Amino acid sequence: MSFIVGLTGGIGSGKSTVAELFAERGAALVDADVIAHALTAPQGAAMAAIAATFGDGVLQTDGALDRTAMRNLVFSDRSAKARLEAILHPLIREQSRALCAAATQPYVLLVVPLLVETGGYRERTDRVLVVDCDEAVQIARVMARSGLAVEAVKAIMATQISRLERRAVADDLVQNDGEFDALLPQVEVLHRYYLELARAKALAGR
Ligand code: ADP
Repeated sequence: MSFIVGLTGGIGSGKSTVAELFAERGAALVDADVIAHALTAPQGAAMAAIAATFGDGVLQTDGALDRTAMRNLVFSDRSAKARLEAILHPLIREQSRALCAAATQPYVLLVVPLLVETGGYRERTDRVLVVDCDEAVQIARVMARSGLAVEAVKAIMATQISRLERRAVADDLVQNDGEFDALLPQVEVLHRYYLELARAKALAGR
């Protein structure tokens, strides 16, 4: 059984940045967003169900999900979001479980932006690592990365749980309010800790 660290955090908190640092040190990365993209690419495993549920209006000409059309649909029809998630979430769970099980690295970092929101995370992870960031810094970074207006960033943040709620479920925290270099010692300490925990779990399972 792989040792699985669930990594989460609000939009722009620095999940991808932090995940990359763990991967450089030898952790396996399994990313729910990457899986979701593959599922909704042309020929993606979710596309037949999505087309059957929402019609061809949410398809691009190449057969991939038309994200803008889907976003508009979700905006005008509240139930569409739940129906889309009912298709995607079980597939994401199944594929992420398979990828975690197949990993040969000492431990797996399972990157799930909505880990806490989607529930069941305690059963899926040995540990929850939260990338924590001041909300003003978070907003500034997302605006710089995406060119979105401040209201648009706040609207996305409003769909996610609060910083406080996320911190409350964290076993471990990486603080990412400052310079990039401030991440390195934090990642180093946690990486060594996870190697120890993974070794202990492997010994206990033998
Ligand atoms: P997430 O995956 O949580 O959405 P990212 O890792 O993509 O967040 O980080 C959001 C943006 O902020 C990216 O453009 C990233 O390069 C930048 N960033 C992350 N951490 C820092 C930092 N400590 N200093 C400066 N920029 C950062």
